Amino acid sequence: MTTPTPQPGIMEIALYQGGQSHLAGVRDVLKLSSNENPAGPPPAAIDALSAAGRHMHLYPSTDHAALRAAIAEVWGVDAERVICGVGSDEVLQFVTQAYAGPGDEIIHTEHGFSMYPILTHMCGATPVRVAEVDRVVDVDAILRAVTARTRIVLLTNPGNPTGTRIADAEITRLADGLREDIILVIDGAYTEYAAGYDGGLPLAETRPNVLMTRTFSKIYGLGGLRVGWGYGPQAMIDVMTRIRQPFNLSVPALAAAEAAVRDTAWRDSCAALNAEQRARLIGALRQQGLACDDSDTNFVLARAATVAEADAAEAALNAEGILIRRVGGYGFPEGLRITVGDAAQTGRVINVLTRWRTEDVA
Ligand SMILES: *Cc1c(COP(=O)(O)O)cnc(C)c1O
Repeated sequence: MTTPTPQPGIMEIALYQGGQSHLAGVRDVLKLSSNENPAGPPPAAIDALSAAGRHMHLYPSTDHAALRAAIAEVWGVDAERVICGVGSDEVLQFVTQAYAGPGDEIIHTEHGFSMYPILTHMCGATPVRVAEVDRVVDVDAILRAVTARTRIVLLTNPGNPTGTRIADAEITRLADGLREDIILVIDGAYTEYAAGYDGGLPLAETRPNVLMTRTFSKIYGLGGLRVGWGYGPQAMIDVMTRIRQPFNLSVPALAAAEAAVRDTAWRDSCAALNAEQRARLIGALRQQGLACDDSDTNFVLARAATVAEADAAEAALNAEGILIRRVGGYGFPEGLRITVGDAAQTGRVINVLTRWRTEDVA
């Protein structure tokens, strides 16, 4: 008897594990497990979404012209070279699907985003995982891992769940070291939280093989709507547009994202709040003996000495209704990834961990 057979790679996919959002028996849960914006969505986006509701009987724009124009204006890029997707995840899927297949290799780094191997298997290609050094991307190790079969390098900068970032000169060195038929994708989901960083934009602007991806899910507070974008060479954008479904973004999503990207004052205030609370949280974690790198994102990765200690810290947080992300799947069984909240939320986390340490010692 024969049965339907899936395409190569599909059965290799381990299902994506999202951040937990419920705790049994707790009503006032503080969710710090998915790097969402503690300020919520920008008010201008809520207004645009409500107004767009009146037009939801109409099919959305297929070319996303208004949203691309807004992105181009705000970020100083060429609107023709912007492509929008259902989250940046979809933009990453465009590039993997369009440029890699069975027999090809896609490189990602040791602690790279967990969607990368999923997307790689989705197109039938083989994921190649490259070691990092002390939780920081190692450009030389990536270059050493390149083979004749390499088609794409997926780089998260700043990284998730590490929060660390490599310098612009290092990204340039990576781009310089790759053959021109290999695509370098710079996933800049957290760019707006990294002071002085441009997400790799100049490389996406000038190189024939560099794509930058960005998202509305993090600082713009629109994770539930699913909007992201990519910027790169015209030839690549044209290729990816052929496999983009014409109506991938809904009327409300397009309207809300356009309003959000234009609200630069709101974005800057969120970045400032994040920087302040991030420094406070990192200081407190270190004080409680939890190792923690500096972060260029809206989360921090605390590292306990042992898995048992991480379990205990998580249990203490959970007991007070606080959800964080364990990152064993990313190679940090002793790690606790904590999204940076507002001042009150950060205070709550610090209080719980301080009490936990005090009682632990007693
Ligand atoms: C959150 C995140 C994204 C964004 O995903 P969306 O599909 O845009 O919501 C992309 N890359 C990394 C590394 C992330 O952490």
